[in-house]
Amino acid sequence: MKITNITAFPIRIPNESDDGRKINTKNLNTAMLANKDLPAKDYEKQESKKQNKDKKRHLDAKALGTYDSEIKDMGIYYVDEGSNTSIYSKFHETTVVKIETDSGIIGWGEAQSPVSPNTTATIITDIVTPLTIGKNIFDVEAIWHKNYSAKRERGHYTGFYIDAICGVDIAIWDAIGKALNMPTCQSMGGIHRKKVPLYNGIGGTHPEEVADQAEWSVGKGYKFLKMHLKEDLETTVEIAAKVRERVGNSIGLMADVHMGFDTFNAIKLGKELEKLNLLWLESPSDPIDIPGLCEISRSLDMPIANGEWTRTKYEMREIFEKRAYDISMPDIARTGLTGGKQIATIAELYNIPVAPHVGGGGIVSIAATLQFSLGTPNFMIMEHSEQGHAVKAMILSDNFDASEGQYELPEKPGLGIEIDENKVEKYKIDPSI
Ligand SMILES: [Mg+2]
Repeated sequence: MKITNITAFPIRIPNESDDGRKINTKNLNTAMLANKDLPAKDYEKQESKKQNKDKKRHLDAKALGTYDSEIKDMGIYYVDEGSNTSIYSKFHETTVVKIETDSGIIGWGEAQSPVSPNTTATIITDIVTPLTIGKNIFDVEAIWHKNYSAKRERGHYTGFYIDAICGVDIAIWDAIGKALNMPTCQSMGGIHRKKVPLYNGIGGTHPEEVADQAEWSVGKGYKFLKMHLKEDLETTVEIAAKVRERVGNSIGLMADVHMGFDTFNAIKLGKELEKLNLLWLESPSDPIDIPGLCEISRSLDMPIANGEWTRTKYEMREIFEKRAYDISMPDIARTGLTGGKQIATIAELYNIPVAPHVGGGGIVSIAATLQFSLGTPNFMIMEHSEQGHAVKAMILSDNFDASEGQYELPEKPGLGIEIDENKVEKYKIDPSI
């Protein structure tokens, strides 16, 4: 079954629940965490439990007062130039990929593109499409390998190029499942489970704000919650303690601190968070510092989760060999289903569970990650955004959503979703050049 055409759709969807929200880099991906169901409160004006004068001093940049938030607003995008945080979009942006075959079967994929989906779409159109047209969908792993090798000598080991080939990889796997009339996870080797537990992402800068989001999430049926926090050490602990107090001990809590600490402060933070019985500490420090991550992991009893940035098995080798962290978090819209399966298999050799990252990924990314989760023996738990889901689902022709904090094995073949191409066209953005 030969691939006859590939189309890349760079899309940008406004997030209505984010209307009027102040741009704040600590809110992270606005489409992911904005919550229209919670009344807007000025949390900053509420009296904090601890006055500044009572705070303990720590040797971390935010507590030293050398960390100044300087938001550069570029219209569609914004960045905090006072820190090493990422550039974000005010919208939900991604690149949706469609492949057509000579049998009429269509496959949908996604290359995660939280900023500049036009870049990813151009790489797919100019490079990946001519490399892939005419190939048989059942050669999917060979296609990934040959497409990777086509830029290997130029040093394109990660980033936009790998995202582009992985968006096409997911679309091919969707087509394979449809061709065999079975879920993609079954066509990849088998169904390991029929239900997938999720954790919901919450965030904010004030303890009461994050606790309100936690309580709202628990009301939606979530039993696991992850706090996205970008505060100093003491405030991070204060927020986590407030959330624990609000939701009680029966809710699983994790903390993602978005590589905000150096090695010794990450250890110090982890030792405090361990007292609150957190399930993992995510992205404690710069992920490029593998020896530092090893030291953090060895120093703490709580597991360290990491790996949303890495895209291939090649990048993962040293991390697994050194056991730099305890839980691997591949992002399927960056690794593809082919790469995700390879990473999970190697992780299994080291008895390391995988908890796939979704973050700002769109609806095809979610559906592909669900298939990955259903078909992976060492799968642990999948990321989700209850708040961002409706925006991401705008390109579907029928409903596809989680219920009571979990997904079930979809009944439809392939990735199990139906894309409405007219809606994709509606949100498609013009080429930059
Ligand atoms: Mg993360």
